[in-house]
Amino acid sequence: MEGIRVYAYGDVYKLPGTKGSLATAKARGGNVKVVYGFLDAIKDAKEYGKESVFFGVGFETTVVTVASPIYDGKVPKNLKVLSVYRLTAPGLDKAIEAHKDKGIPLDGIIAPGHVSSVIGANAWRYLPEKYGLPTVVAGFEPYDVILAVVMLLRQMLEGKPRLENEYSRVVRPEGNVYAWRKVLEVFEPIDAYWRGIGVLPKSGLKFKDAYATWDAAREYGIEIKPTPKELPPGCKCAEINLGIAVPTDCPHFKTRCTPSNPIGACMVSDEGTCAIWAKFGGGGFLEDLAKEAGIL
Ligand code: SF4
Repeated sequence: MEGIRVYAYGDVYKLPGTKGSLATAKARGGNVKVVYGFLDAIKDAKEYGKESVFFGVGFETTVVTVASPIYDGKVPKNLKVLSVYRLTAPGLDKAIEAHKDKGIPLDGIIAPGHVSSVIGANAWRYLPEKYGLPTVVAGFEPYDVILAVVMLLRQMLEGKPRLENEYSRVVRPEGNVYAWRKVLEVFEPIDAYWRGIGVLPKSGLKFKDAYATWDAAREYGIEIKPTPKELPPGCKCAEINLGIAVPTDCPHFKTRCTPSNPIGACMVSDEGTCAIWAKFGGGGFLEDLAKEAGIL
């Protein structure tokens, strides 16, 4: 839209949408700025003084950085947020269901450390209780992951699935109550669409009426709907995100789709599964592991 500045993380800048990416919008003269975080967008929007929109994408960790300054009254009214935030647990439930449907064994869960630092390790207590799955909250250093695997194996050997917290130097059982309370003051959970996967109940966040001033969806009448071409033909991002396929299952992996020319979300982000596989050999060790785990 004419005159509106759009702020986005570098991760989503090249993400292909149904009508191109933000990068192509910028190449056509669009007013797009890449920012490291919402605070940068606030600073810039104050100087810009005109209508601007922050593309609010991510999970529990990133929504905190938006909800907190809005709740604290630090966000100018000319800066709106397009909330496409998603919650981790409904996505994980869907992945567990998908494994069951496909008959793919799932022996345990390494719960996400940074998300858990916000919502608390206890948020995953339902995994061993409901699904009988050993669950360990882990950090991101190599020794965190190795220790988490050891803890999962111990639970499996003992036959006693339970919740354990390997990342206790960062993650508290109750999480960051102060931060999460602000999120739930500003946003409320809604049923939300996941690209290529479908609608998952209570898996998204929308602005509550009291904070409508910052809601870009209301301001500009934006409704995000599934489209027939939501994934490029042949792209297996949905299955990969659910853990029931690996990048080499995709006919485009490292042929049409590469880190420098991504056609799916899993290749766009540095943290995307396809990008990681491409960077570290595109098969080999990871493929052997997947075969051993019965995924391939
Ligand atoms: S290689 Fe590209 S097209 Fe294939 S699943 Fe990954 S992101 Fe999608």
